[in-house]
Amino acid sequence: MKEPITLGDVLSARKTISGHVIHTPLRPSASLTDRIGSPVWLKCEQHQYTGSFKLRGAANAVLKLSPEQKQKGVVGVSTGNYGRALAYAARNAGVRAVICMSELVPKNKVDGIRAQGAEICISGTSQDEAQKEVDRLVAEQGMTMLPPFDHADIIAGQGTLGLEVLEQLPEANTLLVPLSGGGLLAGVALTAKSINPAIRVVGISMERGCAMITSLQEGKPTAVKELPTLADSLGGGIGENNQYTFDMCADLADDFVLVNEAQIADGIRAAYHDDQQVIEGSGAVGIAALRAGLIDNPGTTVVLTTGCNIDMSLHKRIIGGEDVDLMAE
Ligand SMILES: *Cc1c(COP(=O)(O)O)cnc(C)c1O
Repeated sequence: MKEPITLGDVLSARKTISGHVIHTPLRPSASLTDRIGSPVWLKCEQHQYTGSFKLRGAANAVLKLSPEQKQKGVVGVSTGNYGRALAYAARNAGVRAVICMSELVPKNKVDGIRAQGAEICISGTSQDEAQKEVDRLVAEQGMTMLPPFDHADIIAGQGTLGLEVLEQLPEANTLLVPLSGGGLLAGVALTAKSINPAIRVVGISMERGCAMITSLQEGKPTAVKELPTLADSLGGGIGENNQYTFDMCADLADDFVLVNEAQIADGIRAAYHDDQQVIEGSGAVGIAALRAGLIDNPGTTVVLTTGCNIDMSLHKRIIGGEDVDLMAE
């Protein structure tokens, strides 16, 4: 049976990755505070190395490999930010990395991963098809597969974000957490609730293809169709044989909220015009949910703004007020 992940694992992850990640700022949002009527803060992981929080888990997992595993290299499948983070973490540790991804991944993200020094392999139109390529590299070359969310070291690494938030703002009442595979929510909720059991953790996803919320409703891991969305980093399934994140999200999240494409665009726009932040759609879902009035009684709220990796020409269209619908393009 697998060992449960504990606060101790998160504390040890923090030691492991210290010096490899940025302790990101927690920034007050005057405009959201005015609008909501209670204090709202942004935990700015868009300023993390590689442009997203994913480096926390990836760095922890790579640094914890045995010398033999490091010598054979790591392989991952990714919608973008995780690939970038794994590539960066591997290069820093002197480890070979191969990143496999589907054709749906936007070009700016592919280029970003290549720029971190990883080898890229593109195959198929879903993460599951890219996964087959990963399995081949593991079988044929003895490389270690590090999955993007369903892994104890990844979850513990993401949990370090929760530690930082509670140290920066111990009085936080509500955490708004973008949700895809659930590694972030699992790590952050485990950590935050170990320190303050009364804290409320809300998982936020897009209406277009949210695998975790659908799976929780169905009571088991359930595949959903991947659709073009402004929250592209939240796409993908949770894995048929999910080990950790399905149960942890079921146990630890207090609520789940879905936002539509117009609300996500509104979140991106508000982050830019009101808070001077470039935030990708997936990182803006918390702002979107708050602005759309979807969070009841938020109290003192921390919005995890998780990444900045958006195609800048798309960003420009959105902040210029265009009604972007990626499904129609
Ligand atoms: C991956 C990602 C998430 C969601 O993380 P999970 O652990 O898969 O739930 C949220 N925001 C951004 C920017 C991401 O890249």
